[in-house]
Amino acid sequence: MRRPILAANWKLHKTRAQARAFVDSFLPLVKDADSVDVVIAPVFTALDAVGQALEGSRVALAAQNVSAEPSGAFTGEVAVNMLVDVGCRYTIVGHSERRTLYGETDDGVAAKAAALLAADVHPIVCVGETLEEREANRTLDVLKTQLEGSLAGLPDDRAAEIVIAYEPVWAIGTGKTATPEIAQEAHAFIRERLRERFGAGGDAMRIQYGGSVKPDNVTVLMAQPDIDGALVGGASLDPEAFSQIVHFERARA
Ligand code: PEP
Repeated sequence: MRRPILAANWKLHKTRAQARAFVDSFLPLVKDADSVDVVIAPVFTALDAVGQALEGSRVALAAQNVSAEPSGAFTGEVAVNMLVDVGCRYTIVGHSERRTLYGETDDGVAAKAAALLAADVHPIVCVGETLEEREANRTLDVLKTQLEGSLAGLPDDRAAEIVIAYEPVWAIGTGKTATPEIAQEAHAFIRERLRERFGAGGDAMRIQYGGSVKPDNVTVLMAQPDIDGALVGGASLDPEAFSQIVHFERARA
C-alpha cells in the first residue's frame, strides 16, 4: 500500500511573511490528516521561515531545486547540505519549467537526484510531455526517455525513497487537467518502466499527478490505481484549497 503524498509547489510566490501566514492558516486545517504525507516547497528565501513554522507538525519541507555540486564556485546555486540545514526532507528536480526555461537535462536531473539521496532527501523527479509531443503520439516515448535518463545510476535499493511526478506540460497552470483515464494510462506506463528499472521496488514508488489539480478534481484522480499523490501549483497557494486537496478522501467518503 503506497501512502498518498500531496505536495505544494509554490513556484515564484510568497515572501517569508506571506509564507508564515499560509502555514498559520493551513496547519489547523490539516491537523487530522495523518494517513497522507503533506509537503510544501516554498522559494529558497522562505525555506528557513517555513521550516521553523512547520516544526512539530507532520508537514514536510521541500525545495524546488538544488545543485548537484556540494560546494564551490557556482554562483546562484544552493547545495543539498544547505537544504538539509534548513530542514528539507524532499526536493523537486526536473520540473518542466526548469527543463524548458533553464535548459535542465535528464543527466542533470539524475545527478541532482543522486546527490539528494546521498543526503537522505527524497527527490521528487518530474517528467511529462508537451502538447506537441502528445499530439504527435510521442507521449510514451518521451516518458520512457525522461525516466531512463533522470533515474540513471540511482541505487536500486533506494527506489522507495524516490517520488515521481507525472506532469503533462499542457496541463500545468493552464486549467486543463488530464482526464483520470489519460493520467492513469501514463501512470501505468510509468509504473511498468519503474518495475523494469527497479524490480519489485518499482511497486513501492509513489507517482504523483501534476497539472491543474484542484479541490474539485483531486478525488477522481486519486481514485486511479497508479496515482499516489498530487504535485500542486496554483491551488496550493491558498491554505483552504490545498487543505481540501490534502483531504481528498473526505469527498470520496
Ligand atoms: C506545478 O507547479 O507543478 C503544477 C502542476 O502547477 P498547476 O497545479 O498550477 O498546474
